[in-house]
Amino acid sequence: MSAITLKSVKKRYQKSLVVHGVDVTIEQGEFVVILGPSGCGKSTLLRMIAGLEEISEGEILIGGKVVNDLEPRERGCAMVFQNYALYPHMTVAGNIGYALKVAGMKRVQRDAKVLAVATSVGLETFLDRRPGQLSGGQRQRVAMARAMVREPKVFLFDEPFSNLDAKLRVAMRSEVRRLHRDLGVTSVFVTHDQTEAMTLADRLIIMNAGKVEQVGTPSEVYHRPASRFVADFIGSPAMNLIEGVFDAHGFFNYGKDGRLPVDLGSRMAGRKVSLGVRPEAVRRAQPGTSGAIAATVDYVEELGASRLIYASNNGHQIIAVDTSSATIPTGSQLHFTFAEQDMHLFAAEDGRRIDTGIADPRRSSSPANDLTIKA
Ligand code: ADP
Ligand code: MG
Repeated sequence: MSAITLKSVKKRYQKSLVVHGVDVTIEQGEFVVILGPSGCGKSTLLRMIAGLEEISEGEILIGGKVVNDLEPRERGCAMVFQNYALYPHMTVAGNIGYALKVAGMKRVQRDAKVLAVATSVGLETFLDRRPGQLSGGQRQRVAMARAMVREPKVFLFDEPFSNLDAKLRVAMRSEVRRLHRDLGVTSVFVTHDQTEAMTLADRLIIMNAGKVEQVGTPSEVYHRPASRFVADFIGSPAMNLIEGVFDAHGFFNYGKDGRLPVDLGSRMAGRKVSLGVRPEAVRRAQPGTSGAIAATVDYVEELGASRLIYASNNGHQIIAVDTSSATIPTGSQLHFTFAEQDMHLFAAEDGRRIDTGIADPRRSSSPANDLTIKA
């Protein structure tokens, strides 16, 4: 088990900077997920930790030791990829035990070790099969067992489940979580799938275009996104985000003539921001409620336990989660409000979060704290 520290780690390919100075410490035994859209530099960062890619600037430490100049095999990392890269002509046992054989471990010892590891991932009855005779999920397990058998200090996963169907991905996710609980090995897992990331991670490193946007627990990145990018990327359906500007009269002005009473006092007057509210924090209001946003229903999506209302106001789409059973015809007018502490603000200049000084949005909203209504 080992902590991993990245100090101003950069990667340049020719002239283009693809990883812009990453500073982060992954604690010993922690499960950290690197999450971001395709092409943002996740694999590059992971491969630099593994030693498969040279770093252009900065330092990487594993277990307190600088590993910049160490070969991949000297770093104590085991990597699991999306394309499992199993040897097709070898059996499951052969694939799992290959590294031990190369290292010169005796047959008897090796067989015992292979059996133990195979059993821990549910492969004990498949030891004599070849990869071609296995399902995608079983092959993925062989790849994991092959990594585990080396008893690495660090597990590195690069989108290992992207080839699997939805159900299997969920099953593999809990398997990886269980293995991590049992083995306690420091793990770094790369994915572009936010659900996978949120369910697996102790902490997430959210990346965008080679930069780290936020490092935080799933709850932190969801409830206090550090940037507009994170706010938009995490959560499904995505957060409602409206661009506008505050005035000195206690209003948020958006679109052609949208005016929302949000009194943040004079300090925000003239500030251009994105105002965000999660769909589940948007509440239905009675018609005539002053300060409520009137919107026309475009369509309703049934999800079973709840439904999503897609409505528009002043050219902006508003998505609201609705748990009532009332009929909502397309084209009807609804009114929406939200509690002040459920509001997120991001500066227009750089997309960074603006602290409004309003209580933590994680606390449940109470009607008493609803927006200051200005008639
Ligand atoms: P991700 O894993 O997040 O999808 P990558 O780390 O694979 O992203 O790639 C990050 C960026 O670096 C991309 O723009 C990609 O085109 C570029 N890149 C990756 N490998 C190379 C390479 N060997 N040469 C030049 N550019 C590369
Ligand atoms: Mg990648």
